[in-house]
Amino acid sequence: MMSDRTIAVLSGKGGTGKTFISVNLACAAAPATYIDCDAEEPNGHLFFQPAIKTREAVNVPVPRVDPAKCIECRQCVDFCAYHALAWTGRELLVFDEMCHGCGGCVMLCPAQALRETERAIGRVQTGEARGVQVLSGFLNPGEATGVPVIKQLLNTGHPGGRVIIDCPPGSSCMVSESIQDADYCVLVAEPTRFGAHNLAMVHELARLYNKPCGVVLNKALPGDDPSRQYCQAHGLPILAEIAFEAQLGKLTSNGMIAVKEDPRYRALFERLLERIDQEACHAAVGHS
Ligand code: SF4
Ligand code: SF4
Repeated sequence: MMSDRTIAVLSGKGGTGKTFISVNLACAAAPATYIDCDAEEPNGHLFFQPAIKTREAVNVPVPRVDPAKCIECRQCVDFCAYHALAWTGRELLVFDEMCHGCGGCVMLCPAQALRETERAIGRVQTGEARGVQVLSGFLNPGEATGVPVIKQLLNTGHPGGRVIIDCPPGSSCMVSESIQDADYCVLVAEPTRFGAHNLAMVHELARLYNKPCGVVLNKALPGDDPSRQYCQAHGLPILAEIAFEAQLGKLTSNGMIAVKEDPRYRALFERLLERIDQEACHAAVGHS
């Protein structure tokens, strides 16, 4: 059964195969939408090579001071939790890359000496590749946070079908932002002790936001392993196990999408989609 479900794919660190899983899920689900929220290192588009449709700058507000109005009270410096303002003894400095655009300093300035201007911190790009809408966020190097890029990316319209969100690695505020609208979270884990530790991080985040979730064991080994033990101990369903295969590694390192190249992988990801649908349905019934 087709569904317009939004599926977020998470992993506790980079390099676990999160993008590999996301890209192949989107391809198996086509017509679908793939959203690359890993704005610090977006590379899903390298697999899809989409025909670009739009590019939009992502702007954030930053304060600018009018020295003629400033009464040198330094209240703004004391207020800024991100240390984006500093008083040199002669002038107020604004460190743009550290500013989170909260607007608080502008509101509190007793002399109305601060005003907001806009500054680009990245861009959002849309494109299409054989039935998959490919949306990618790009954060400029050195910027403090990609949350505004992710917000703009997720507010970009898409034509329907399943939505696969390729989240940033870890459990930062960027990941939290990425899973806000997800109906189901797929947690990608490796079969090692570090893998289980990273799995626990993203599992905690999914629980915090009350999102139903299941695990894909990537580079899975036969027999027991710490990630499998974690799933058993916490009642987490294992949605699929993907063994390391040289052919899979070769396809991925060459920027190719496995489900397009080999019917075995297409069948594997179609089964994974079905399993996600079943689990998400059970979770929805359980919540109703
Ligand atoms: S709060 Fe306003 S007046 Fe006070 S130091 Fe900052 S810019 Fe100047
Ligand atoms: S807008 Fe917010 S984060 Fe930016 S300098 Fe002002 S108080 Fe700091």
